[in-house]
Amino acid sequence: MLIVKFMKDLGYDVIPVFFQTPFFGPENARKVVEQIGMKLIVEDITEEHLIMLKHPRYGFGKNLNPCIDCHGLMFRRAGELLEKYQADFIISGEVVGQRPMSQRRDAINSVGKLSQVKDLLIRPLSQKLLTDTLPIREGWVRKEEMLDIQGRSRSRQRAMAEDYGITWYQNPGGGCLLTDVSYSRRLKDLMDNEMMTLEFVRFLKTGRHFRISEDVKLIVGRNNEDNEELSRLTKDNLVLKTVVVPGPLGIVNSKRELAIEELTLAASILLRYHNKVTGEGDVCYGPNFHLDSTVQVEKATDKELEKYRI
Ligand code: SF4
Repeated sequence: MLIVKFMKDLGYDVIPVFFQTPFFGPENARKVVEQIGMKLIVEDITEEHLIMLKHPRYGFGKNLNPCIDCHGLMFRRAGELLEKYQADFIISGEVVGQRPMSQRRDAINSVGKLSQVKDLLIRPLSQKLLTDTLPIREGWVRKEEMLDIQGRSRSRQRAMAEDYGITWYQNPGGGCLLTDVSYSRRLKDLMDNEMMTLEFVRFLKTGRHFRISEDVKLIVGRNNEDNEELSRLTKDNLVLKTVVVPGPLGIVNSKRELAIEELTLAASILLRYHNKVTGEGDVCYGPNFHLDSTVQVEKATDKELEKYRI
């Protein structure tokens, strides 16, 4: 947000682009870009991001965040858009030394290498401290107008925001869902069981997750909001519901039909989250809300929950 405004004020035309995946969405970016009177272009990079996530060349941060490869991928995609938008170069708000993984000086170089458009990158907040790239060598960008911010303190950036009258911005220290411990654990489970496809990744944000077997997962809504979200996400999934309503909703993630033992286990876990049922109860199930079969099960025990919970 700062560098968009900064470069615009210096007289450059700027086109803000957001790269979207299931791990980060454009809502906040849209809000901030609208604040400075511009329109955001959103590009979906899910497919490539999921492929990269399996083997990031520069590895992961503290959790499943492959920040260097992720930045590299975004810049590469930005490079591919230059012709479409008749743009000459790419700017980003990276600051040398600001983040432990992706913005160390050597990491900034690695990002540049991965992007395949290294020579077209300008980081206005730190560019005075970085190697000159084509836009500076050619005189498209005046180096003396660029800044020399570095390090983890964000005081100069905050002062700039204040000067620009920007009143709302995201917590600058936060990352995407891949930096979250429990989300990363669920994603790792998908990776380990070779289920990391968009179809299953879409469900990771919602509900309680259980691994029933190598290629079968159950997701149980924790409340009404979860149940509604799970219903929205469901396409051809097997759905489980307690016969006594209201009660939790269960969605199965799998590419195949379930064996009876797997179905019974999933139903007993679902029933465990029904407050009004004690001991035994009925669970109906079927593909995509065609709940025309029923199975009677015992509620799962705490030990079982612990064993299967991801
Ligand atoms: S925090 Fe998430 S979105 Fe940001 S660079 Fe890292 S992996 Fe990519």
